[in-house]
Amino acid sequence: MNGGCLCGAVRYRSDAAPLYQVYCHCRDCQKASGSANAPIIFFNESSFTVEGEVRYFTSKGSSGKDIHRGFCPTCGSQLFGRLERMPGLLSIRAGTLDDPAAFQPRARIHVSQAAPWDVMDPALRAFPHDVPQK
Ligand SMILES: [Zn+2]
Ligand SMILES: [Zn+2]
Repeated sequence: MNGGCLCGAVRYRSDAAPLYQVYCHCRDCQKASGSANAPIIFFNESSFTVEGEVRYFTSKGSSGKDIHRGFCPTCGSQLFGRLERMPGLLSIRAGTLDDPAAFQPRARIHVSQAAPWDVMDPALRAFPHDVPQK
């Protein structure tokens, strides 16, 4: 999978299959994206390549641990997420894929915080909060 930001200054590529693909409906993703939810794909950072400068902004997640969201400093596109509680993983916002059809969501998380105007696919598994940890 590959993709990049709106202006093309940031490009990325994964050489391995994604680990998880979800929609996150939490309030933080709503605020950070300006949308109803965030379509997110998680990769192992070791198989992932980023070219170009990325600016990270940090906030506290509901777990109390830091979440770092990565944006292109030239065009402002939100591209990446790094979670302190999931070390070694990097997530991308699926809208930045070169081929949007490559996103194949498997679940919806934090649906208890979903906006009343959100439209959700009832065929996907839904979790009121996060995916239960192993
Ligand atoms: Zn850009
Ligand atoms: Zn979220």
